[in-house]
Amino acid sequence: MGVLIIGTGLAGYTVAREVRKHDDAIGITLVTADDGHNYSKPMLSNGFAKGKSADGLRQQSAEQMAEALGVTVRTHTRVTGIDTAAKRVRTDTDALDYDQLVLAVGAKQLVLPLDGDAADDVMRVNTLGEYAHFRNQIEGASRVAIMGPGLIGCEFANDLANGGFQCDVIGPDNHPLERLMPEPAGRALQGALAALGVQFHLGTVVNAVNQDGEAYRVSLANGSEILADAVLSAVGLVPDIELAREAGLETARGIRVNRELATSADGVYALGDCVEIDGLVMPYVMPIMHAARALGATLTGTPTAVTMPAMPVAVKTPAHPVVVAPPAPGAEGTWQCESQEDGGVLARHVAADGSLLGVALTGSMAVKQKMALQRELPPVLS
Ligand SMILES: Cc1cc2nc3c(=O)[nH]c(=O)nc-3n(C[C@H](O)[C@H](O)[C@H](O)COP(=O)(O)OP(=O)(O)OC[C@H]3O[C@@H](n4cnc5c(N)ncnc54)[C@H](O)[C@@H]3O)c2cc1C
Repeated sequence: MGVLIIGTGLAGYTVAREVRKHDDAIGITLVTADDGHNYSKPMLSNGFAKGKSADGLRQQSAEQMAEALGVTVRTHTRVTGIDTAAKRVRTDTDALDYDQLVLAVGAKQLVLPLDGDAADDVMRVNTLGEYAHFRNQIEGASRVAIMGPGLIGCEFANDLANGGFQCDVIGPDNHPLERLMPEPAGRALQGALAALGVQFHLGTVVNAVNQDGEAYRVSLANGSEILADAVLSAVGLVPDIELAREAGLETARGIRVNRELATSADGVYALGDCVEIDGLVMPYVMPIMHAARALGATLTGTPTAVTMPAMPVAVKTPAHPVVVAPPAPGAEGTWQCESQEDGGVLARHVAADGSLLGVALTGSMAVKQKMALQRELPPVLS
C-alpha cells in the first residue's frame, strides 16, 4: 500500500523525490510501461548535434533511481485499469493496491491520417525508445522532412541542420511557432533557420508519403513534392487521458485536477503532461516541478494548492534563440513588436490598461530581456 505512481517520466520521479523530502518511511511504488530509465526528455530534440545516442541520454537506471529515492520501481509493467472504489490498479501481469494513486502517464503524439504506401514509416519522437529508432533510421541519411513548424519541429530542424542534414519543414501555419508568437517573431526565427539551409513549406500539409527507391516521396497539398530519407512528425502532443477516462475520472483535454492536483476520484491525483489544471494544459518542465512540490506535501498530509509564476519557455534553436511566455488563453490584448539590431524581435502582448500579458523574444538581444520582463508577467496560477 502507500503511494502508487504510474509513470517514471519527469513527473513520476519528481513527485517521488518530493514525497521523500517530507516522509522517509512512506511506501512508494512506481510502475512504468517502459524500462524506467531517468533521462532528460528535452534533450530528444537537441541531442543529435551534441552527438548523443539514446544510450548517451540515459542518466540513471530504474534500479539506481529506486535506490536513490528509497522506492520500488516496476518496469515493463503497463497499468490497464483502475478500480477507484477498491483502490486497486490492474496491470498486464497482476494487481496493485494503493492508499494514494498518482497518474503521471504523460502525453501521446498526435497521429495525422496520411495516404501513401510509406505512411507507417513516419516517425515520432516522444520517448527514448522512439529517439533510438529515429537515430537508427537517419544513420547515413542526408534529408529529413519534418511535419510541424511548432516548437519541437523547429528544434529538430535546427539540431539536424547543425548536424549536416537538409531539412524541409512542412505545416499549415503562416509562420513558425504560430500558436506561441506573433508573425514578426516567427519570421525572424524562420529567417535564421532558412540561413542554416532549412526549407519551409508553410500554408500546406503533407497528404501522402510513398516509397521512392531508397527514399520517400512526400506529397504536399499544394502540389509540391519533397524527397527525403526520413520523415518525422512533430505535429503536437495530447494528454494521455485514456486510463483515467476508462476509470470514470473527469477528463476534458487532460485529466481534470483541482489546485491540489486531485482528480475527481478519492485519493487519486495527477500531474505532468497528462493533466489539465484550471483548464490549462502545460506540457513543459517548470509546471511539473511546481506541481510535484505541492503534491509531495499534499500526499504526506499537508494539503497544498499549487501556485505557478510566469514560466517562460526557452526554445532550443541556437541559430536564433527564442523565449516564449504566451498570454493565458482568452486574455485580451495586442502584440507590440520591436525589431532588434541583431534581426531579432521583442514582442510584448499588452492589455488595454498597459499591463504585460505575454512575451515572445527572439534573437540574443531580446532574449537578454527575459528576466526583467518575466518579473512583469502575471502568475500562471496565483
Ligand atoms: C522532443 C521534446 C522536447 C522538449 N523540450 C522541452 C523543453 O525544452 N523545455 C520544456 O520545458 N519542456 C520540453 N518538453 C516537454 C517536457 O519534456 C515534458 O513536459 C515532460 O518531460 C513530461 O513528463 P511526464 O512525466 O509528464 O511524461 P513522460 O515523460 O511522457 O512520462 C510518462 C510515463 O508514463 C508511463 N506510462 C504511460 N502510460 C502508462 C501505463 N498505462 N502504465 C504504466 N506506465 C505508463 C510511461 O512509460 C512513462 O514512464 C519537450 C518534450 C519533447 C517531446
